Amino acid sequence: MTPVEALERVVHCLDRAHETGFKAKAFVRALEVVRATPIEELQRLARRDELTTLDGIGDSTAAIIEGALRGERPAYLDGLEAATQVPLTDDGARYRQALRGDLHLHSRWSDGSATIESMARTAADLGHEYMVLTDHSPRLTVAHGLSAERLARQVEDVAELNVRLAPFRILTGIEVDILEDGTLDHGDAVLAELDLVVASVHSKLRMDRQPMTERMVRAVASPHVDVLGHCTGRMIGKRDPSAFDPDYVFAACATFHTAVEINCRPERLDPPRPLLQLAVDHGCWFSIDSDAHSTGQLEWQPHGCNRAAEVGVPLERVLNTMPAAELLRWVGRS
Ligand SMILES: [Zn+2]
Ligand SMILES: [Zn+2]
Repeated sequence: MTPVEALERVVHCLDRAHETGFKAKAFVRALEVVRATPIEELQRLARRDELTTLDGIGDSTAAIIEGALRGERPAYLDGLEAATQVPLTDDGARYRQALRGDLHLHSRWSDGSATIESMARTAADLGHEYMVLTDHSPRLTVAHGLSAERLARQVEDVAELNVRLAPFRILTGIEVDILEDGTLDHGDAVLAELDLVVASVHSKLRMDRQPMTERMVRAVASPHVDVLGHCTGRMIGKRDPSAFDPDYVFAACATFHTAVEINCRPERLDPPRPLLQLAVDHGCWFSIDSDAHSTGQLEWQPHGCNRAAEVGVPLERVLNTMPAAELLRWVGRS
């Protein structure tokens, strides 16, 4: 394990534990510094006990680097691996074992922190056969949403990566914004080129109930939309769920062949249980998605698996239990 690999793993573990505080940021910074420093320089500084003279390297990071340079697995990492496991219930485990992919995740192309390749390699390490790359659409400027041109370039990159990563497969996609009137933040021609489309509301979350219902139903009815992302938009403890008529929205999801996402981000866990139950009653399809913005967050699917098990989501209704070819056939039917 090189110093870079050791620190990458530390950052990965802190991410999966949803650590976003000072310590996590310090390790991200340290990783950047170590990446930019030649290994010979790290060795020279380690011999003189001067690693902490590097910007952003404190005592704990220095100990990890020294351990890695000696060819040892840093002890700190072993403790961290154990302490940051994502909890999975016995019932949830049945869902997690059935998952073959992840349909919603981000890369550095929008607001993620990892390259497409690291996301793919991590997804493969987690046992997945495929992932759908769903960076943001242009309206979400804060997240560097992808224009049609950038998206086309990304699709080319993905094709090249797929040659190298086979048999793992990256499917092309987007998390397209649902605009205020229910239209989408990319035209039909752009969306039609992608393997799978997640559509989500990111703006005007406080709209009145009726226009919000119409907005969501219109998006769900689009033949290009395959998954309705984090439907209530809630942020636990920070933002209430949006107001909409869930009977209309879930009936539309069932009718128009759009899956209801079970979003696994700890601050979202969306939809809340009663709504998830309602979607089950409506006979909806589902996807259990990490919505990961870093490699560690790809490990969040157990959060959604636990809830799916609690509510009794039929496993055969979960899209990402399908092999990629079957998933693509399902998408083609909508
Ligand atoms: Zn989103
Ligand atoms: Zn997302």
